Amino acid sequence: MKYSELFCPTLREVPSEAETASHQLLLRAGYIRKATAGVYSYLPLANRVLKKVMNIVREEMDRAGGQEVIMPIIQPRELWEQSGRWSVYGDEMFRLTDRHNRGFALGPTHEEIITALVDGDVHSYRDMPLLLYQIQNKYRDEIRPRFGLMRGREFIMKDLYSFDVDNEALEISYRKMYEAYNRIFQRLNLDYRVVEADSGAIGGNESHEFMVLADTGESEIVYCTHCDYAANVEKAVCMLTSEPMTEDMLSLEKINTPGQRTIQDMVEFAGIVPSQQCKTLMYMADDKLIAVLVRGDRELNEIKLKNILGCQNLYMADEHTVREVCGASFGSLGPVGMPVEIYADLEIANLRNFTCGANEDDFHYINVNPGRDFKPRLEADLRNAVAGDACPVCKNRLEMILGIEVGHIFKLGTKYSSAMGATFLDQNGQELPMVMGCYGIGVSRTMAAAVEQKHDDNGIIWPMPIAPFQVIVVPVNANKEDQMVVAEQIYTELQAEGIEVLLDDRDERAGVKFKDADLIGIPVRITIGPKALQDNQVEVKKRWEDEVNRVNIDQVVNAVLTIIRA
Ligand code: ATP
Ligand code: MG
Repeated sequence: MKYSELFCPTLREVPSEAETASHQLLLRAGYIRKATAGVYSYLPLANRVLKKVMNIVREEMDRAGGQEVIMPIIQPRELWEQSGRWSVYGDEMFRLTDRHNRGFALGPTHEEIITALVDGDVHSYRDMPLLLYQIQNKYRDEIRPRFGLMRGREFIMKDLYSFDVDNEALEISYRKMYEAYNRIFQRLNLDYRVVEADSGAIGGNESHEFMVLADTGESEIVYCTHCDYAANVEKAVCMLTSEPMTEDMLSLEKINTPGQRTIQDMVEFAGIVPSQQCKTLMYMADDKLIAVLVRGDRELNEIKLKNILGCQNLYMADEHTVREVCGASFGSLGPVGMPVEIYADLEIANLRNFTCGANEDDFHYINVNPGRDFKPRLEADLRNAVAGDACPVCKNRLEMILGIEVGHIFKLGTKYSSAMGATFLDQNGQELPMVMGCYGIGVSRTMAAAVEQKHDDNGIIWPMPIAPFQVIVVPVNANKEDQMVVAEQIYTELQAEGIEVLLDDRDERAGVKFKDADLIGIPVRITIGPKALQDNQVEVKKRWEDEVNRVNIDQVVNAVLTIIRA
């Protein structure tokens, strides 16, 4: 392709709305343009990258026994009512009505459609395992679409669904996908990690997330410095490693603390360290008000709380309700005399003589002791893991890193097949619900994650397998015939080898061409300049190295092939 014919509108300025590197660079380098919040057009270079990502995904899905289909984006409300999700999916679902006032959703995911599809045509154990997938736009009205392609409202996803006769067979499908996903992210040349993920309230079902490591990642991951354990903080099990404190229990005392409401306030006001304080958080769990305790230096993990309560809806209580029930506002609450059920993190029971609100504005209790001064309804692991915690597998130190969730695999069991009546007859003629799994990859997010992980101040550094072009040929001066003749010759020879080449035939200064080549991130640059040409040589430069190598013209194709195949 000739650069002069390429639709690649680069920008000199960093677009002001873009906060992350991938968002900035994909806009600046002419890959994407915004239509509205979280909705983008993919320009030719982006399309080339996406196609390569999709091809790798497709090859690995096919290799693992998947069969590609295309399912509808417009999904009838009735199917979502059968699964029970029409009412629970919430505002993230784009809903529409047709001229007859029938309800539809723009597919945020396809469990309902595929379960209905398979139910219609699969009736026997002989038809399984069945692995069907598609690569297609998904629609989610995200509360905060941001970071460009990273969290879009329209985005490209590969979703595969597996149907099996029992849990053992599901395990085989799941392992196949687990391995296929590893191959995909290895082939994409991305630095990634597989982590244990929360599987929500379905309980006991396995789930893994595939995370591309990047400083701007929205997911916090803890990993063991010693063994293979890694988990999303939402999921990471917090071991209780501290010993119960043994100091004597002092007598409970109420102290006047005018205007002191936060943990930090009490550090400054009374010199009490956060780990000797207790945070009291008030939640509505399916319309029931409860109090939740974590140590002052910890964060509550709402997912763990929700899983333990087994409730449908969990949200923070409003201050008005809390004041009515407890007699004090947020910041002055505590477990002593708390009129509602208390759920305490495991660490609370180990404390002695701690400080908390007194359920009376401007007062705190000091020397509070669990067991003596209050009794929780339940003690459980309710906090977020932090760096320095003990690994739940080998007890060594956990560290924290940030990642971008690019893939998610999930054992669904019979959640959808039971709800929607997708059954089959087993060998004995018994009717059973199909056992399902679902497996997603954010294709457009993966492109953004690659940029987030691989860029420098000058632009994108595409991994070779997904670069829009592998090579850019730059004649320093396109008006000089001798340079153009050599450039065209190398361009043609590389193309004959099946290499994707961009020939920068524009009448621009060399500096501008080099800047653009760096910005759009082409891995290999071949420069044809007057000096080197005198010696029958050209310059070969890798995007990720500063070094420039002079190569004889008749050797250049081999040199490039070596780099591409490395
Ligand atoms: P997140 O926690 O980031 O919202 P999710 O758990 O909702 O993700 P899944 O429903 O598991 O995501 O979807 C499968 C994959 O689709 C994710 O792993 C991610 O790569 C991608 N994805 C999800 N939401 C978006 C989005 N709004 N924009 C781009 N990609 C997305
Ligand atoms: Mg989501």
